[in-house]
Amino acid sequence: MIVILRRNPDQVQLERFRQWLEERRVSIHPTVGMNQTIWGLVGDTSHLDINLIAALDVVEDVKRVQEPYKNANRKFHPADTVIPVGGTQVGGGGLTLIAGPCSVESEEQICAVAQAVRKSGATMLRGGAFKPRTSPYAFQGLRAEGIRLLSIAKKLTGLPIVTEIMDAAQLEYFDDVDVIQVGARNMQNFELLKALGELKKPVLLKRGLSATYEELLMSAEYIMAGGNEQVILCERGIRTFETYTRNTLDVSSVPVLKQLSHLPVIVDPSHASGRYQLVPSLAKAALAAGADGLEIEVHNDPAHALSDGPQSLRPEAFDRLAGQLYAISGLLLEA
Ligand code: PEP
Ligand code: MN
Repeated sequence: MIVILRRNPDQVQLERFRQWLEERRVSIHPTVGMNQTIWGLVGDTSHLDINLIAALDVVEDVKRVQEPYKNANRKFHPADTVIPVGGTQVGGGGLTLIAGPCSVESEEQICAVAQAVRKSGATMLRGGAFKPRTSPYAFQGLRAEGIRLLSIAKKLTGLPIVTEIMDAAQLEYFDDVDVIQVGARNMQNFELLKALGELKKPVLLKRGLSATYEELLMSAEYIMAGGNEQVILCERGIRTFETYTRNTLDVSSVPVLKQLSHLPVIVDPSHASGRYQLVPSLAKAALAAGADGLEIEVHNDPAHALSDGPQSLRPEAFDRLAGQLYAISGLLLEA
């Protein structure tokens, strides 16, 4: 339910209304705008009498919200959410460019890629340490050691680091991690989402392989319901009948998610396509569609990468693409 308050409401009545709601175990999420203040009511609001609330002097309007997600809903929070990460931010107009290898493989590899992508304008470094692989015989990641190597690259370049978590038990290794990624396969690992909800750290939540927009937003809601409002949504391609590409990039997800939610939306064209040749086109399409940023796999030696080599850009190709992405982003900001 959302309540739009009258301008300059009587403070005594407003306080009485607040207490009345709290007694009914409904929590209030206020948004103070230039022209109006909105209270988003979260909890079981089904027993609240909407006509009674509408009749209050302090209330301008009240509406039931049909969608099951509340905290993630743009109706509750009309302004775009901006998430600060290190010296940069996600959302709010700038370009977030997360780049790095699929997997952290060695100190030399992660440091070389980190330095290269930083020079090209990446705002964050990615690298998988705990890897969700389809085959148990495939490289499973360097795990805690991988995060230690990411920290070394962070110190070297100043880039904030993004890496995936697969289980809440791994959280003890994530102290120096700036953004915790939840992979497509874990989008509905509700116990993991609840654990991340208790943190005060940004979470990059990837869309599941066959998840609807509402399911993605409900997963964001799990994290936000715990008090962690710093969620970045990520479209990374969905399963379709097409087999030429690894997945199919759902470009529509960007404007839809931005319409339904105030959370920043980024796109991963690497996992969406599975082919490095397609990554530049999809990355540019994502920005044109309104994405706040991109997550792109970059490897200094894709032919020998331990995972996802075929979809990884070489640093030189990433450099060319980054220049184009900054140009597009600048044009869109001016337009
Ligand atoms: C990844 O980012 O390396 C990854 C495993 O992505 P996804 O969860 O989207 O498959
Ligand atoms: Mn990968």
